Amino acid sequence: MPEGDTIFRTARALGRALGGRPITGFRSTYPKLTRANDDVPFAGQTVDRVESRGKWLLMHFSGGATLATHMLMNGSWHIYRRGERWQQPGVHMRILIETSEYIAVGFRVPVAEMHTARSLARDARIPQPAKDVLSSAFDGAAAVRRVLAHGDEEIGDVLLHQEVLAGVGNVFKSEVCFVTGVHPFCKVSALTADQVQALIAAARKLVGANVLEDSGDEIVTYGGRKRRTTHASDPGASLWVYSRTGEPCRRCGALIRRRVQGPDTRVTFWCPCCQPMPDGCNVDG
Ligand SMILES: [Zn+2]
Repeated sequence: MPEGDTIFRTARALGRALGGRPITGFRSTYPKLTRANDDVPFAGQTVDRVESRGKWLLMHFSGGATLATHMLMNGSWHIYRRGERWQQPGVHMRILIETSEYIAVGFRVPVAEMHTARSLARDARIPQPAKDVLSSAFDGAAAVRRVLAHGDEEIGDVLLHQEVLAGVGNVFKSEVCFVTGVHPFCKVSALTADQVQALIAAARKLVGANVLEDSGDEIVTYGGRKRRTTHASDPGASLWVYSRTGEPCRRCGALIRRRVQGPDTRVTFWCPCCQPMPDGCNVDG
């Protein structure tokens, strides 16, 4: 599943490609979207702004409507010049937005909804900017309070709750715990507010570092190897712990561990030495 950094970069690219030029065509395989287009045609409108909110991508049209999409596992947005060959079969096209220069195609996008400003503000599934680790409107103090409210849960799980902290996915979860020295299976109630604050700061820093202009598609948290030389078949090469089971910790040499975590059984990686379990947190690890 794409993490917040991927959606952020996609939103930025879509905004640059579509922004400022009148829309010349709109198509979708979703009846609700085609009905919206029948009611108020998108052709002639412009895309005012494209933003990411955690794992949601919001496209704001000049007519006041907002298209909210979520990629889940397999969805993606592509940008093509007119006449350019698509990289996925047309049968996977769900949404198509055309301008005089570029065509944006949403392939296999499983969730697509039209919103008004009001429905967007009320929809609890779509994070407000204050919860998004990549937003300049992020509210750190409120985020600390939201994390601490999940005292009975393991921190590795809580970091994935998009309503607590939007934009952190499974790779960043393990990486954030490592750089903060926190055991991912530690209960939130065993952490201090300072530790939670440090975890949140690390999340903002690591996810933020992956949306810089020269960031590639691959997540990088460990700078010991340059991104450009990283081999695609070794996803852990530019990471501290994720996908590095049994390999030596980059800081202390202990062997990295892996275990599934939480109700969704997501894989979690950590260093048993750099991330000790605090007293009172009685989990084998
Ligand atoms: Zn270590």
